[in-house]
Order: sequence, then C-alpha cells, then structure tokens
Amino acid sequence: MDLLRKLLLLSLLVMSSSPLAAEPRVIIDQSPISLSEFSMGYFVDLSQSLSYEEVTALPFTTTGSKTTLGTSARVTWFKVILDNASGLEQRLFVHLPHAYHVRSIDFYQERDGQLVDQQVLDLEQVGDNQLMYNGTAVYPLTLPAAQSITLYLRSHVYSHQWFAVQILDEQASRRALISISSDIALMVGMLLALVVYNGLLYFATSKKENIFYSFYLISGLVWIALSYGLVASFFDVYGSDVFQLNISLITMPIFLLLFMMTVFETRRFYPTEHRFLQGLLLLLCGTLVWGFFDISAALKPASSLAALMMIVTFSVSISLYRKGNPLVKYFLVGHSFFVIFNGIAVLFYKGIIAPTYLNSHGVGIGIVLEALTLAFIISHRIKILEDIRASQEELKKQAATDPLTRLYNRRFFFSEADYLLELAKNKGTPLAVLVIDIDHFKQVNDQYGHSCGDQVIVNIAQTLKKHSRTHDLVARFGGEEFVVLLPEADLQEASQCAERIRASVQALEVPVNTHDMVRCTVSIGIAEIMLGNDSVEAALKRADKALYHAKHSGRNQLCIETPEQADAQPG
Ligand code: GH3
Ligand code: MG
Ligand code: MG
Repeated sequence: MDLLRKLLLLSLLVMSSSPLAAEPRVIIDQSPISLSEFSMGYFVDLSQSLSYEEVTALPFTTTGSKTTLGTSARVTWFKVILDNASGLEQRLFVHLPHAYHVRSIDFYQERDGQLVDQQVLDLEQVGDNQLMYNGTAVYPLTLPAAQSITLYLRSHVYSHQWFAVQILDEQASRRALISISSDIALMVGMLLALVVYNGLLYFATSKKENIFYSFYLISGLVWIALSYGLVASFFDVYGSDVFQLNISLITMPIFLLLFMMTVFETRRFYPTEHRFLQGLLLLLCGTLVWGFFDISAALKPASSLAALMMIVTFSVSISLYRKGNPLVKYFLVGHSFFVIFNGIAVLFYKGIIAPTYLNSHGVGIGIVLEALTLAFIISHRIKILEDIRASQEELKKQAATDPLTRLYNRRFFFSEADYLLELAKNKGTPLAVLVIDIDHFKQVNDQYGHSCGDQVIVNIAQTLKKHSRTHDLVARFGGEEFVVLLPEADLQEASQCAERIRASVQALEVPVNTHDMVRCTVSIGIAEIMLGNDSVEAALKRADKALYHAKHSGRNQLCIETPEQADAQPG
C-alpha cells in the first residue's frame, strides 16, 4: 500500500516537473484592501491522506477565488500566493465565508519556502477557536513589505466542495463580519410568515394540505438557513450535528408529495398518478431513514433522486392538467420555477458551472418561488371549497322553501316541527299551530287572473312573516293555505298572534294590473299541541277543523279547537 502511494506521488512529481503555466499570484498594492475576485490554485486529494509536505511538491490547477468542485473533491487543497507590492507592512485577514459547512480546514503559512505557521480549524470542536467567527473562518497574517507569503488551505467537506477566499484589511474584515446576509434572512422570514399563516389556516379549516404545506415550508427554511450560513451566523453551531439538518433536503420533497396528494385528491380522483406518487414517496421515506443513520451517504444520490422527483411530479401534473384539474396549472408554474432554479443549483454544487449569485442560491430562490405559488393554490382551493359550500347551502335552502313565497315548504315544516315539539317537551313549554286559508280566493283568480292571484299570495305570505315572531315557523302548505308553528305559545298567545295576522291581512291592499287594488281576508284555525302523547299531525287536524268552523261562521275570523272538543265531536 505504501509502495503504491509512493508510486502515485512520484508520477505526480514527474508531471509537475514538466513546464507549467505561471502560478496565479495576488498582488497587494494599495489600501484599502478588499479582494474577493482573484485566482488561486487547487489540488483534489482523492486519497484524503496527503500531508502538507507531500502536497506542496504537487501541481495545482488554477481556479477563481469562489469555486465549486463537486462531491468527489471531499479533501481539496487551495494555494494562495500573496505578493506585497505596497511598500508597507500589511496586516491582512484571510476570510473563508463558506467555512460553516465544512468538516475541517487546515491553514499552512509559508515564507521563503519555510512553514512559519500552522493552524487547524476542526468544525466538530470549534469551542473557543479564534479562527471561527459566526460561520466565517478568519485567518490573520502579517505580510512584510516587498515579501511574499504562500498559504495552503486544506478543506475537508462532508459532501460538496464549494469554497471561497477573500483577502481583507482590518477595516474591511470588521465590516464583512458584522454584515448579515439580508437576502437569506428575507427568504427565511417570508417562509416563516407563511408557516404561521398556514398554521392558523389549519386551525380554521382542519385541511391536511395546510399541515403538509407548513412542514414543506419548515423543511425549506431550515435548509436555506443551514446551507446559506444563517444557522452558523445566528447560533454559532457547526459540525456533523448541524450537518444532520440536511435531512430537511429529504423531508422537503416528502411533504411536497403529500401536499400534492391531498390538494389534488389523487387517491380519489387520479388513482394511477396516485400510485406513482406513492412509489416515489416510499423511495424518499427509505432515504429519510437512511439519512437518520448516515446523512452524508444518504445525500450522495440526492441529485439523482431530485431528478427522478422532478420527472414524476412533472409527469403527474401534466397528466392532471390534461384531465382538467383546475388547480394544477398553478402548481406547474410554481414547480417549473423550482425545477429551473434547482437545476442550475445542481450544476453549481456538482462543480460543472462557475459560481454566481443565482446558481449558488438557486435552491433557496426555487423554494421561495414555489412556496409562494403553493400558497396561491391553497387560497384558490379555499375559494373553490367555499363556492361549493355556498351552492350546497343554496340547494339546501331551495329544497326547504317554496319558490313563489320563499316561505318554508310542507316537507321542511314537518321535519322542523317534530324537532321543535321535542324541544318543547324537554323544556315543558307550550306549542301552538295556526292553519290559515285565504277567503274566496277563487274569485281573485277569476277576476284578476292567476298571476295577480300569485302576487296576492306573495303579499299575504310577507304579511304572515312580518306579524309572526322571529322564532315562529311559517310555511306554505299548498295553494293559498299557510301554517304557522308557534313555539312557547299557549292558546291565548296563539290567538293574539292569529288576530294580528287576520287584522293586518284585512288591512292589506295589493296593487295589481297598475290600477286595481285587491283586498282579501283570511280565516284561521288554532290548536295547541299538547305535550303528552299529542302529535303535530293531530294538532294540525284540529286546527283544520277549527278553520272549517271559521269558514262556516262567515270567514275573516279565528276559531279554536281543543282536544276535548275534538273528542266530543269526532270526525
Ligand atoms: P274559501 O277558501 O274561502 O272557501 O274559498 P276559496 O275560493 O279560497 O276556495 P279554496 O280555498 O278551496 O280554493 C283555493 C283556490 O286557490 C283554488 C285555486 O284556483 C287557487 N289556487 C291554488 N293555488 C294557487 C296558486 O298557486 N296561485 C294562484 N293564483 N291560485 C291558486
Ligand atoms: Mg284553500
Ligand atoms: Mg280559500
């Protein structure tokens, strides 16, 4: 093994002795010093075991001061050569702003080929390490006038190697350390607001999609806060314990799938698509369990899984769209944002494209844009459900009322009357019923026509409603016959109410045919519903009988029928 290692080193040395392009150098010439765009060298140590002495003899490849090298570059050495051309001694601070996400960084400072300083920053044990400041590694050095320093930085990461170096003077260093990344804080704040809003919505509607959406948002904001350094700068925590939070990268698609299943009701309406989503969900849950044990390993297939996820969710959405689902088009828009921005972010993390703000923040931007569209879907669905509820209410109302007068119909009257009788029995309060029939109504029809007759019926219905009490049940039983159920009314109170109705109908004038006034009267039969073994039907029969008496006694009057009277003259 040792022999193999020596052979490998030897071959690398031979390669390095071949003529090379000049190594990049950073020239320090004038204050203020704030350098974040320059060239440096890197060397990927695939064996993860090369020492400083071994590495310094090897060839470095040139890259930018912000770079990304993918997952295979777990251990990478960076080489920065600083030349002081300013004529003055310079106190400098080497900043590594992405240090929060690495496992460890070793610093080696070399002057005139001599190692003059060596420091280790192990993120598993940051403790009081002076090199770490709220997520940024800060390595101070003094560069004498007209001298050079070579810095070797060994970066060991958990998964993806993305790395940045800045060279700053004291003032610029202080400024950089106190500035907070307001863009990341804004993203997290926005997602947090949506979480709170959805939590409240859940309490209001008990809809599962609000809960899944909230957990999706929480996963998203945890991952953004973690991978863009907010967790590090706020809580000053690092290492594998924090790296474990990358589990949110797996829970995020899990909750997105659950959200899709509930909001589109796939189990009920799209069983085939539902099975695809279930399959993917199972795969992700497997990865989640794996992640709890070894997050570093579970993240390895993350990109492939993300690609599969996008293919399945996209195909399912398109299929739902073609089947006419009204909400899925919004999901497609939001998901496209997510896919596009994540796509470019994957290229960044894999080290395929050079870092820019957009690609290095792609996942965060994608999450926020998608989250906003999903919020829109939720509000749109609430509106759809509200419309359905309103039309159901309307149907219920239509089924319970008479279309001409808008009074309750016979069917609703009986179901409600039985309930009110039960209530009266429980409370021991009296209950009475009135049966009302318009006098000589045939003549109205004959004289003015059927539609004028209708108008009169509507007006009398309104009078009934107006002169009965708010909790009375007023119904139209047939043509020109009405029934009023009076809770908490004995015969005396029922008679008073009936008299009010009779008198107001008598006083009523209904204008018809532009110049005619129709006047009508009503006859009213009254009966009390006894709380013993009486029934609504039996009481109505007695009230009908009383009505018959009222008609025969000359109309436009009230008549009462008690159970005793009914028993005395059966039939
Ligand atoms: P009375 O009750 O005083 O004995 O005489 P009446 O003429 O009112 O007789 P009855 O109650 O038996 O007749 C009801 C009439 O009402 C029969 C029918 O022509 C008329 N009618 C029933 N339903 C409607 C309706 O919806 N619209 C109109 N315009 N007329 C109706
Ligand atoms: Mg009648
Ligand atoms: Mg009549």
